Amino acid sequence: MDTSKTPDQRADALLAVLTLDQKVAFMHGIGDDTGTGFVGDHTGAIPPMPAVCFPGFHFTDGPIGVRQGSEPATLMPAPVALAASWDPAVARQYGTVLGSEARAKNNDAIFGPMMNMVRIPQGGRDFETLGEDPYLAAQIAVPEIEAIQARGVMADPKHYVANNQEIDREVTDAVVDERTLHEIYLPAFEASVEQGHAATVMAAYNKVNGAYNAQNCPLLHDVLEGQFGFKGFVLSDYDSTYGQEVPSVNCGTDVELPTGEGLPGLGGQMGSPLTGGYDYLPRDVQAGKVLTSTIDAAVHRILRTMFRFGVFDRSPSACPITNDINNCSPIDFAAGEQAARQIAEAGAVLLKNSAPTSGTAPLLPLDTGTLHSIVVIGPEANTNNQGGGSSATVPVTNVTALQGITDRAGPGVTVSYNDGSNAATAATTAASANLAIVVVGDHMQEQFDRPCLDLDCDSSSPSGAPTSQDALIEAVAAANPHTVVALNSGAPDLMPWAGQVPAILEGWYGGEENGNALAALLFGDANPSGKLPVTFPQNETDGPIQSLAQYPGIGTEAQYSEGVFMGYRYYDQHNVAPLFPFGYGLSYTSFAYRNLAITPTSPTTTSEAPPQTDET
Ligand code: BGC
Repeated sequence: MDTSKTPDQRADALLAVLTLDQKVAFMHGIGDDTGTGFVGDHTGAIPPMPAVCFPGFHFTDGPIGVRQGSEPATLMPAPVALAASWDPAVARQYGTVLGSEARAKNNDAIFGPMMNMVRIPQGGRDFETLGEDPYLAAQIAVPEIEAIQARGVMADPKHYVANNQEIDREVTDAVVDERTLHEIYLPAFEASVEQGHAATVMAAYNKVNGAYNAQNCPLLHDVLEGQFGFKGFVLSDYDSTYGQEVPSVNCGTDVELPTGEGLPGLGGQMGSPLTGGYDYLPRDVQAGKVLTSTIDAAVHRILRTMFRFGVFDRSPSACPITNDINNCSPIDFAAGEQAARQIAEAGAVLLKNSAPTSGTAPLLPLDTGTLHSIVVIGPEANTNNQGGGSSATVPVTNVTALQGITDRAGPGVTVSYNDGSNAATAATTAASANLAIVVVGDHMQEQFDRPCLDLDCDSSSPSGAPTSQDALIEAVAAANPHTVVALNSGAPDLMPWAGQVPAILEGWYGGEENGNALAALLFGDANPSGKLPVTFPQNETDGPIQSLAQYPGIGTEAQYSEGVFMGYRYYDQHNVAPLFPFGYGLSYTSFAYRNLAITPTSPTTTSEAPPQTDET
């Protein structure tokens, strides 16, 4: 407990007095079902050990908000929206909210950011990612991690690595060549470690080149630790050790989160008791299957990181157990709300803005001088879309599109609502208003990839989607040329109606302030500045995935045979025109570039003055 010592010195000192059982206790997370009362609404924990002054350690999901049971937290725009800002300062703001709230709710680590590349637009967790480009993802992830960790909370870049589909996510073997791994799937993790100094990394469920990620010595030992110089500790993604503690520990997965949940046959909640798992490590050490030195190295990594973050120096009673936030530091939800709105504004992408009738100005920003009536249409207008699964967060506020537009329009403008359940009725209503805003979206979810890319291609639409959202847009646009489509999607959707409407604004899953951000953008209080972090295809089969062997895979293997030509690289290589390319995004300003010049440099010319340019 001598804080004048370095984290490594303190870890050495503690390690020297721990018993084997105590060491293993640091390596084994517990879940909610253990009956200890310690975990509460946290996403797992390592129980306290008063004998060695360890106050315990709490984990929380996740990448979009501090997910703790039914307790509210700021629901941020989905990470794909953050990536669409292309702005490291915005990422820092995002991480500040996550880190502050996670710490105030007594968490020591947060499971995020999520930085798997968007390899397939159907991917059920694409909304949680930072897009399809490794450089962009790295530029966003690093400041986010720094901001989280500046609040005393360990970040947990996930899911290491090549975890790009939800179909068969627990058995799929991603067969990826070395170049592609290093150029596409690893760089965001590398930057997180080398530049962001991430404290932990989460090992994914899937296999890579024949070995499960949590048991993958080449990827954990050689690449993460050896090549990237990772100094923190590796966590399993819940069951991703598959009850195989020996290869997992021997390859460098230091902490096993609660095992057995949800895996038929592996025990825990679903079946017979486990016969493996980290609590069996003392047995394995005795049997010589795991060396004491291996346990010591893992525990050293855990302890030095905990000392680095001051975990041992925290009072165990500062915010005891569970979810009583009144017991914890007060949370500045107003700051979270403001950040959520600003980030939703920064991440929205204006995909189209043309004149509704010939000879007129572009439809957006709205001209309040001539606007007297708006009809807001669609089931998504009266709810706030977020993705399903472990990132789902209970929002503090929930400003829907309808609410935000109504508030911003003010008393001089009549705002009415049509739920879009009947396209003909919606069209009639649209015809009688100055402006129609159709709010549509998709519904993505962990554990399920989307079977197709149409807006309605999911089973969980809140309204049961009695009429197709595509048909709804087409009917409304035919009835009123002044129609805006506001999209709340987690990934690229097909837009067969794109040519029929003058304005399309992609707001992603916009978080708890979605409606206010949308209104600010439509009315021109904020200038759209987001740029697509993923390619939007014209047709479902346009992209790099051209065979079942690539996706979802044949047998248990998914062949990444497209290599580095994933995302926009494929479209470039094959000369396929996307609907909207990676990096695309309009604003309310127009830009012209003139007289640009490039002077090639060579070792002999680098000292020359830069060329003169005239940029408008
Ligand atoms: C997900 C992780 C998540 C964890 C805890 C897993 O199933 O893959 O992303 O952090 O559950 O909820």
